[in-house]
Order: sequence, then structure tokens, then C-alpha cells
Amino acid sequence: MNKFRYLAVLAVVFAVAAAFLVIRYSTTDAQLRAQSDERLEIKQPVISKSDRLCGTDHNPERIAAAEEDFLMRRGEMEKNGDNTENVTGGVINVYFHVINQGTSVSNGNITDQMITDQMNVLNNAFAGWGWSFNRIVTTRTTNANWYNGCYGSYETAMKTALRQGSADDLNIYSCNPSNGILGYATFPSSYTSSPIKDGVVILHSSVPGGSAAPYNLGDTATHEVGHWMGLYHTFQGGCNGNGDYVSDTAAEKSPAYGCPNGRDSCRTKAGLDPITNFMDYTDDSCMFQFTGGQDARMDSQFTTYRYGK
Ligand SMILES: [Zn+2]
Repeated sequence: MNKFRYLAVLAVVFAVAAAFLVIRYSTTDAQLRAQSDERLEIKQPVISKSDRLCGTDHNPERIAAAEEDFLMRRGEMEKNGDNTENVTGGVINVYFHVINQGTSVSNGNITDQMITDQMNVLNNAFAGWGWSFNRIVTTRTTNANWYNGCYGSYETAMKTALRQGSADDLNIYSCNPSNGILGYATFPSSYTSSPIKDGVVILHSSVPGGSAAPYNLGDTATHEVGHWMGLYHTFQGGCNGNGDYVSDTAAEKSPAYGCPNGRDSCRTKAGLDPITNFMDYTDDSCMFQFTGGQDARMDSQFTTYRYGK
């Protein structure tokens, strides 16, 4: 009997080993790539509360609708005989609104020098692409509700009271957005339906000299102004489809954090991840560029929705 039991156990061991080998070698190339991608993800820093988080609305259905609206408007412009040639740059007037809950910098009352430094960072980022930003008005408001509720329940009240200018003027609000948000912006295509909400909101401590390291070199404002000019995140749509609707930013599966040199999250698509692009989620010290394709998109978005509007 013992001999039979021994043989039975041996048979089970062989069966399990054979099943493992069959499964292992029937793994498809796609599965192996996915496993490889997963290993790559593991190498990335674990996402924590302090990672960059942008509150700009990237709902896929609304983005698809906005892209359709864009094509429709361009069609109308041509039909009406309007000039469809894109403006390729210009000076954008900036209304900078400082919302605070007290007189100290830590309570959001950033100094005028910090705002000047922020404007310089913004202008340097766009300098190669023909766009510049000129701060013509600065307002300061002490209101704890607006300060802490500027991403949420007090957005409308704050913007209704403070927003100035028209579609081609930029309103920037510095305050304390909730839920760990570093900032959020509205797209050019949203202006017509909601002009009062048009603008850019940033965390007060993200400006140069602020305390939000590693996001305190002023690139949150640059990132959000990128949205305001019509850009999506570089990782929008993942590896497939239209992505960010810009042809020269490589496809990216998910946001990149820190500064992961050599990251390639879409193995089947050309190019390494655009981790140095302002529209990714990397550290301020890692991101330093827009692309020619992004510039062309900003020009056409600005012309269609903002210029002279
Ligand atoms: Zn964003």
C-alpha cells in the first residue's frame, strides 16, 4: 500500500509541474509585455499624498466632446470666410489674485516678489513659443472660506467676485485647494459655456520660494497655464488612441512622478515617456519643456476660443 501511495504523490507532483510549464510557455507576448510594464511600475515611487495632483477636468467623454466642438468651430470659421490662420503668439494680460486667511506667507499671503518670480518662471517656460504674460493687476483678499474652498464649494463665489477681463485674459488665483490638489485650470473650449470660471488656480506654496517642495519652483502655474492654453496631460488616454492630441509627445501609460529617467511605459509605441514635459506629473526640477506640437495646439486653441473673444 505504501508503495502505491508514494506513486500517487509522485504522479500529482509531475502533473502540477507539467501544468505550470504549459501555462508558463503559453504566455503570449502581450502578457509578457504587460508583466514587464508592471515591473516597471513597481520601480516608480509609491504614489503618496504628497505626489503632484492636478484637478483639471480630464473626463474622457468631455474631452472627446471638446475635440468635436473644436473641429465644428474650425469648420464654421472656414464656412463664414473668417481668417483661420492661427495667431502664433502675443502678450497675455494677467490678473493675479492672492487669496489668504491671514497676513503671513504661510497663510497664503505670498509676497509681491514671489509673484514676480512666478511670472518670470511662466514667461521663461513660454518664451520659445512666442507667448508672454504681463501682470497688470494684483488683488489681495482675506477670506478663509475662499482660501480653503477654492477647489470646491467657494470656487464660483470667489471667481464671480474677482475675475476680470475677457476670453484672452488670464486670471490666476493663489489659495489653498483641498484634497491635495496643486492646482487646476479651465480649457479654452469651456469659456463660452462658463466664462466666469475661466482661469487658473494654484496652491499658494507652489510659487518660487514657497514651501511645497518638490513643487515649489513655479511649474504648477506653468502646467496649469498649459491647460488654459488648450493642452492635456501627456498621459491622457494612456498608450492607445489619440492620447493628448499632440503628435510629438510620446504616448505615456500613466503619470510619471519624481524624475524617472528612461521610463518607457508604452513599449509598443515610439519614444521614451515625456517626463521632462510641463504637462506630466514629475517634480518641478525635472520638467522644463513644451514641444512644437504642443505650441501648434496652443496656437490653434487660442485662436479658436480666445483671440479677440
Ligand atoms: Zn494638469
